[in-house]
Amino acid sequence: MTTVRVAVNGYGTIGKRVADAVARQPDLTLVGVAKTRPSFEAREAVDRGYPLYVAGDAGADAFRAAGLPVAGTVEEMVHAADVVVDAAPERIGKTNAAMYAGAGVRAIFQGGEKADVAEVSFNALANFDAARGRRTVRVVSCNTTGLARAASVLAARYGVDRWEATLVRRAADPAETGRGPINGIVPTFQLPSHHGPDLRTIFPTLDIATAAVVVPTTLMHVHVNTVRLARPPASTAEVLAAFRATPRFHVFAGWEGVDGTPQVMEYARDRSRGRPDMMENVVWENGTRLDGATVYFFQAIHQESIVVPENIDAIRAMFDLAPDARSSIARTDESLGIPRPTAAGSR
Ligand code: NAD
Repeated sequence: MTTVRVAVNGYGTIGKRVADAVARQPDLTLVGVAKTRPSFEAREAVDRGYPLYVAGDAGADAFRAAGLPVAGTVEEMVHAADVVVDAAPERIGKTNAAMYAGAGVRAIFQGGEKADVAEVSFNALANFDAARGRRTVRVVSCNTTGLARAASVLAARYGVDRWEATLVRRAADPAETGRGPINGIVPTFQLPSHHGPDLRTIFPTLDIATAAVVVPTTLMHVHVNTVRLARPPASTAEVLAAFRATPRFHVFAGWEGVDGTPQVMEYARDRSRGRPDMMENVVWENGTRLDGATVYFFQAIHQESIVVPENIDAIRAMFDLAPDARSSIARTDESLGIPRPTAAGSR
């Protein structure tokens, strides 16, 4: 079978997870990963058998001095690929875009880039077909991905008159030592926050306003949502059933005793056969309530991993590797160990 050759440029929080996910897909081949500096992550990439290419100024000598074999330069990696997943820090993707275009290679960018970096902003549940045949795609940020998935459920079934969301954002990823706050709650003084407009790159007519605060935690973000529905269902149970029936949602029942993000991530560690990630939107039975036409719900978002399956589906859409969103999502989720949706039951 011919496979699409995928390179990953930027091997940090997102890049290493995307590389692992690519390596699990029978229709994709991981050409290699590019790193700027030798590090424990570079050594781990080598241990996993990923060809390691050098990006940035450090040069191959720094890697060789650390005993790490180098497969070539980032430019060589790009030329050997059909598509590059750019997972460099925000705004560097925009600079890298010229290299990909010059090599005639397709590219996927992450949510740290502005929307104009690519032809289309992407979420698999929301607009899979919009990425078909495209040369450049932006997978929206972790928060926007979470909102886009929820909007796919609510807007399609019930219509949305008005959505207001407060985003309680994690201060740093677990491995980041240089970010904060470590004690305090820091409001984002951009009102409304950029997340609503970012979601409208996928749902152009959605009436949504968002605000954000940053809190001292590394585990997850939590969204506090108030959504007035145009055609509300009869009960909270129907809303929960809609979430349960949708891929990439995980609903915790009340009896499971999941009070907050610590238990969510403990569950992720317990169920893990690889990385202890939680790639689904996490919704609580006890944290969802329909009151007239308004649905209130919390959702937790594992910022390190939620966009990983979206990157895989974006590749499938760009290269026409799946007949529709549902089959791509099902293949991706099966390969990554994301449970299938259920119509009833506890998840
Ligand atoms: P990160 O800092 O963890 O990893 C980025 C990696 O790229 C690092 O290893 C860095 O050394 C490397 N790098 C630096 N300059 C480079 C260059 N010129 N070429 C190639 N690699 C370079 O960053 P991250 O958290 O993985 O974020 C990557 C992108 O994903 C950003 O656009 C970010 O906004 C987005 N994103 C991050 C999260 C998150 O919560 N971490 C969630 C969703 C989307």
